[in-house]
Amino acid sequence: MTKGRFCAICGTTKGPFVKNLCEECYFKEYTIDVKLPKQLIFKLCPSCGTISITGMSVNPFLVEQDFDIVLRELARSKITENIKSDIPFRYEFKEDDISLEKINQGYKKFKIIIIFYFKPEIQFREIEKEFEVEIKIRKATCEQCIRYKTGYHEAVLQVRGTNRKLHETEEKEVEDLLQQELENSSSNSNYLTDIQINKDGVTANVSTKLFAEELAKKIKEKMAARYSVAYTLVTQTRDKQDVYRNTYLVKLPEFIKGDIVNFADKTWIVINTKAEEVILLSLEEHKEKKINRKKFEKTAKKRNDEIFEREYMYLSDEGDSILVMTMDTYENFEEPKDKIPKEMQIGETLKGFILDEKNYYFPKKVKPNKKS
Ligand SMILES: [Zn+2]
Ligand SMILES: [Zn+2]
Repeated sequence: MTKGRFCAICGTTKGPFVKNLCEECYFKEYTIDVKLPKQLIFKLCPSCGTISITGMSVNPFLVEQDFDIVLRELARSKITENIKSDIPFRYEFKEDDISLEKINQGYKKFKIIIIFYFKPEIQFREIEKEFEVEIKIRKATCEQCIRYKTGYHEAVLQVRGTNRKLHETEEKEVEDLLQQELENSSSNSNYLTDIQINKDGVTANVSTKLFAEELAKKIKEKMAARYSVAYTLVTQTRDKQDVYRNTYLVKLPEFIKGDIVNFADKTWIVINTKAEEVILLSLEEHKEKKINRKKFEKTAKKRNDEIFEREYMYLSDEGDSILVMTMDTYENFEEPKDKIPKEMQIGETLKGFILDEKNYYFPKKVKPNKKS
C-alpha cells in the first residue's frame, strides 16, 4: 500500500518508496562504489613468453593457448579478484580489443569494459554502470628466465648405483625420464640448468626442491630405487635467513635384471628387482623365486665379472639327463635335465657361461648384464 505516501524530493505519489524516495530520485542520489583498477600492467617475457602480473603468471606455450586468450583471462581475473560489495551485484565483460593479431603487431595498450549490475533495493529495478580498465603490456624478462640464465637452482639430483656404477641403459632410462618429466611439466619454474652423465652417474641441477623431489619419486617408482635428502647451507639472504640447497640422492638397486648372483648356495640370474622383493631364476633348476629384497641384498654376491660366456648346443634328451655340446671345443657332456631352460628344443644352440668350473645356461627372456 502506498496510499498517503509521497516522494520527499519530487512529491510523486507513485511508489514504491524507499527511505521516502521514489525510484527515480533514489537513484539520482545513489552512488555506485566499486573499486576497480584503472590500469593493469602485464609483463611479457621476451625469452619464454610468460605473461605475468602480481600473483599470476601463465606461459601460453605451456598451457597451449593463444596469447590473447591468456591475456584476457588473466586480466579478467585480476580485475575481479578483489571486488567486494554489500549490495548484490553481477557483472559482465563487454567485448574488448585484445587480439592475437594486435599483440603480434606489437600493440601495448588495450581496453577492457566491464558492466556492473546492482540491485540495492529489492523494490527497485537493477541499475548498471560501465567501467573501463586499461591493459598495458611491458616487455620484461621473467624471474624464471633470469634464474635460468644465471644457473640458479634450489636442488641437486644425483642418481647413483648401490655399490656399483650405472649401466648405460640405466643412464639412458634416467635421462629419458627427466626429459619426459620436463616435457610433461606445465610450470615454467620446473627446469634443469645442467645434466651431467659421467662415471659417478647422472647429476642434474634442478630449479626447485619440489620439482627435484618429484623427479626423485618418479625414478624411485620406475627403477625400484631409494632416495634420501641432504641439506647444504649455500648462502644467507640479506636479512640473514639461511638458504639451503637440497641434494636428492637416488640410489638404484645393487642387483638388477641380468645380474648373475650367488645366493643361498645356488647360482641365479636376477629377473626383476622391485621395491620390496627380488625375482630370481635359479640356473640350476630354471625355477623362479621371489625373495624379500632386504634379506637378499644382505647375503647375495654378484658374480657378473667372473663368468666366462660360452655357446652350447642341446644335442639330445636322455630321459633324466640331457646331452650338451660346447660350441668352442665340441666337447659333449651330460647335464641334469633341469639345468637347461624348459623352452629349449633339441638341436638349438643356447648361450651360457662357466662359473666355478660349472656350466650354466641363460633363459631366453633375460640377457646377462655386461661386466661393469
Ligand atoms: Zn521522487
Ligand atoms: Zn621468461
